[in-house]
Amino acid sequence: MNTNYEITVGLEIHVELKTETKAFCRCKNQFGASINTNTCPVCMGLPGAIPTVNKKCVEYAIRSGLAFDSEINEISVFERKNYFYPDLSKAYQISQLKKPFCVGGKVRYKLNGEEKFTRLDNIHMEEDAGKSVHDAKNNKSYVDFNRCGVPLIEIVTMPDIHSSEEAVATLNSIKETLVAIGVSDCKMQEGSLRCDVNLSVRKVGDPVLGTRTEMKNLNSFKAVARAIEYEANRQISVLENGEKIRQITLKWDDDKGENEELRSKEAGNDYRYFPDPDLLPVRITPEYLEKIKNSMPELPFDRKNRYMRDFNLTENEAETITSNIVVTQFFEECLKLKNEPKVLCNWILTDIMRKLKESLEDEPKIQISAKNLVDLINMFQNKEISINNAREVLDIVWESGESVVEVAEKNGMKQDNNEDSVKQIVLQVIEQNPQAVADFKGGNERAKTFFVGQVMKLSRGKANPQIVGKILDEELNKK
Ligand code: ZN
Ligand code: MN
Repeated sequence: MNTNYEITVGLEIHVELKTETKAFCRCKNQFGASINTNTCPVCMGLPGAIPTVNKKCVEYAIRSGLAFDSEINEISVFERKNYFYPDLSKAYQISQLKKPFCVGGKVRYKLNGEEKFTRLDNIHMEEDAGKSVHDAKNNKSYVDFNRCGVPLIEIVTMPDIHSSEEAVATLNSIKETLVAIGVSDCKMQEGSLRCDVNLSVRKVGDPVLGTRTEMKNLNSFKAVARAIEYEANRQISVLENGEKIRQITLKWDDDKGENEELRSKEAGNDYRYFPDPDLLPVRITPEYLEKIKNSMPELPFDRKNRYMRDFNLTENEAETITSNIVVTQFFEECLKLKNEPKVLCNWILTDIMRKLKESLEDEPKIQISAKNLVDLINMFQNKEISINNAREVLDIVWESGESVVEVAEKNGMKQDNNEDSVKQIVLQVIEQNPQAVADFKGGNERAKTFFVGQVMKLSRGKANPQIVGKILDEELNKK
């Protein structure tokens, strides 16, 4: 990128809330249901149908605000955002503008060892629209209204982000936090976290922000990063050609790796927001707020710092352990059984992460119990199993769910620490390989490696390598 320019990015992130029912009616909030089965007069906006706010959504919006240090408004108001689109049968979306649930706040994150944050403008609650389904072959379009009225929070950041790395780190921190506080599963591939990017560029030192464009349709962190790089370079080359940036909305095409112009943005207020006369303002009492505050779990960012401080984990280690709630909970469970955080962390980072990478699941599924892993580590520490056999046991248990002790015994993988039985094998190998003995006597050090290999092979990996080495030295020196 041209270093004479600075990028400025603000994000608008829509997150679907993980509730049983929709935001203002009793329809199920469910991903993947058959088309138009979760609908009713309220979410379809039929005349006379009256919405009622789902209390759980209010709680989730406030939990999110507390997690990001926002101010919680005592009085919040739902407004109608009016626009026509085929997937919005009401012709307005229930949203919030002047009095959202949460104002301000910040998203903390770490990037290359540096602690940073992105300020928030607000977090408001709104409802989702339906989905258009296009049948290109028959040149027809359909609408699925199941998603109409699904509860969302929209997190609006300040234009504090100045690189694609900062954008992705901000998003990552938002996702980890929302999953940890239990308000959303944030699955980008299912659309439960969607990100719009507002981007402008300016010459370094210019006090005024440039004209911004808005990019939609970003459905992975990687797409966000690529789209930011692409659009920043596009804007810079427009400016370098002496032209002006037009305020437009773009649609990112991740396959082509380029932007497509959707529409040019008319100036300002065309949504005619006004307070929804069907919904009363919501008052958050201090008692209710206190109750939610007391139910907040430790946040991933704080947990990461605690792990680094109390357990002496490196930033990378702490980051990997805390970046996914499944891994974090597994680590915590193991910790209850074995108070050696550094050791547990090593096993999880190398062996559990290796297994997770091998599986092609979107969400990590740890297919070994904490008890089993701790037993395995104990066996290794007590020299009852070699590291290679321990890994093999892990592989078997991952598939079968058996206990590690049983698997190790059944497959004869327990380490042989009995000097007599190791000695038997050593003597046998020496006897069978007179030429190698002669080589060793002649000063060929590699002959020793050969003997170790043969002993390990004959013992099927069970012989304790240290004992093998010791006895080999003794016996070979007798020759
Ligand atoms: Zn409904
Ligand atoms: Mn919105």
